[in-house]
Amino acid sequence: MKIVRYLDENGVTQYGQLNSDGSVERLEGDIYSRPTATGEPATVQKLLAPVEPKAILCIGLNYKQHAAESGAKAPEIPILFVKGINTLQNPGDPIQIPTALPSDEVDYECELAVVIGKACKNVKRENALDYVLGYTCANDVSARDWQIKKGGGQWSRGKFFDTFCPLGPCLVTTDEIPNPNALAIKTVLSGETVQDWNTNDMIFDVPTLIEFLSGSTTLPPGTVILTGTPHGVGMAAKPPRWLKPGDSVTIEIEGIGQLTNPVELEA
Ligand code: MG
Repeated sequence: MKIVRYLDENGVTQYGQLNSDGSVERLEGDIYSRPTATGEPATVQKLLAPVEPKAILCIGLNYKQHAAESGAKAPEIPILFVKGINTLQNPGDPIQIPTALPSDEVDYECELAVVIGKACKNVKRENALDYVLGYTCANDVSARDWQIKKGGGQWSRGKFFDTFCPLGPCLVTTDEIPNPNALAIKTVLSGETVQDWNTNDMIFDVPTLIEFLSGSTTLPPGTVILTGTPHGVGMAAKPPRWLKPGDSVTIEIEGIGQLTNPVELEA
């Protein structure tokens, strides 16, 4: 099932089932406990990010060629950093380039996002996918200056600005994506394809990441895991290609859809 979250004509947040013809039917109940289809056509006034994350856990340098283009060795242990829930952004809403704490080096990163559906801890990779509700597209927007030069050795400052985690357009449940490590993934920046790869090239695959992240650590339903980006980021282009006002960034993942956000300056 493809699930969307949206505001209806009364401004009420609802969940809906997205059909292959693009129509949406309202769902009743909680997405973490098998929502039921009502058959009612939905009036989607505005599409929202498909989940309200409880936490956003992110993995760095999880594709070999991206590690190489970043001048780093392929990690032997997954690299965890976090984004705040303030970073969440809806499909179609702008990525804002920070101006109060200004950045000149804002970059895109297409990523497969995993949404945990059942609370879990100390999961083994063999049954890790049993705890997954589904998948969506993410853009791990990154201010490289605050990530690398001005972050004190921690990446999170540069990854933590408002609007820096667009998610969407829909959540695709695991019955439609039995293997999350076999999906084409790309970024199109203002009409130009800049990242174009496959999730089969992750250094640590999705089950391995869930085993690692749930070790001695409870992952509640609604935990969102960003699984890393392939090569082709703006930082590695010659010359670097930073996001600028007027750009449009589209993240596309096979079987999920397209997540598009315009770029503007923070007001
Ligand atoms: Mg990333």
